[in-house]
Amino acid sequence: CGACVTFCPTTAMREKREIPKLLHAFSVGKIVAIQFAPAVRVSLAELFGKPVGTICTGKMISAARKMGFRYVFDTTFGADLTVYEEANEFLTREKRPMFTSCCPGFVNFIERYHPDLIPYLTTTKSPMAITGAVIKNHFAMKMCLKNIFVVFVGPCTAKKDEICRHQIMNDVDCALTTREFGEMIENYEIDWDSLNDKEEFDTVAGEGWTVEFGASGGVATGVMKYLCAKYNVPYEVVFENVPLMTGLKETTITIDGKELKFAICSGISTAANLIDTELYLTYDFIEVMSCPLGCVNGGGQPKISKYAQIHNRSKAIRNIFKNANKTVLDNSAMEYVYTDYLGDPGVGLAHKLLHTSFQERKVENKK
Ligand code: SF4
Repeated sequence: CGACVTFCPTTAMREKREIPKLLHAFSVGKIVAIQFAPAVRVSLAELFGKPVGTICTGKMISAARKMGFRYVFDTTFGADLTVYEEANEFLTREKRPMFTSCCPGFVNFIERYHPDLIPYLTTTKSPMAITGAVIKNHFAMKMCLKNIFVVFVGPCTAKKDEICRHQIMNDVDCALTTREFGEMIENYEIDWDSLNDKEEFDTVAGEGWTVEFGASGGVATGVMKYLCAKYNVPYEVVFENVPLMTGLKETTITIDGKELKFAICSGISTAANLIDTELYLTYDFIEVMSCPLGCVNGGGQPKISKYAQIHNRSKAIRNIFKNANKTVLDNSAMEYVYTDYLGDPGVGLAHKLLHTSFQERKVENKK
């Protein structure tokens, strides 16, 4: 199982089941939309006997439509917005390093054990919350929909805890794991092999690109590529493979004459070491994923025990990433959504919908 089950200090690690909540939404006639995290499309097929790392995007969408979901979205669109907002936030913030905050296992770790570091967390919401906010606001307004119920399917048990945070609780109504979605496919008696593998997502404004969020290094890569493109600096791929033993990889880029040090921590224990030794202060930007190798290895994924197999999922994610040489700045869907709706990144409506806050949480003494 993923490290979020081992390290995540939340009650979510008991994998609270949310299928009944979803079935209730269907039964009372709600308009139900679903969004899929990047890492689900490279693992779901394993539950139906396919090799580890099989890409099954079309079949996953097709299964959701057969179950009755009215709209099927890609959380990758929210990941593009996360990159946009996070990169702009990074450029303006004085308190560095900026830690990523899209992994709820890490956020819970900071809020409970290192609340003094809360000011270092990016306030940009996770792709799940951003996608939910955009569906419930921009998309619902465009389509004249009221009370849309948004379901998230992801690799992560800790997302069940994240959707209950009061700061984002209007964004997503129900969080299922990859395993729960697979269970639903079985319960609905849907034949996996006969599903259409060419089916496509509905979109809020266009395709999302940053599917690499599903593996360690994806967030840092997205932000670095954005900055390099904006300042016309050549970008070199660095964060594709993280050394499993240390879980740490770093690099430097020069932007506007300043050297900026980026690091990725693959596994919460790597981040904990950086914090304990105060080495985190030597970086400008740090991505943290609680599960070693990232969400491909999340606690809600089909269970496999060999890291070599997890690598197959990471490779599959990178194979999906069609626009590897481009940045979200090239994605016309981003330009459209900011011009048509959000305004400028980090201010006004973009700030209201796409940013969040954090607060110290008490550590419960379990009996
Ligand atoms: Fe969840 Fe991904 Fe963080 Fe693991 S790395 S706890 S799957 S968000």
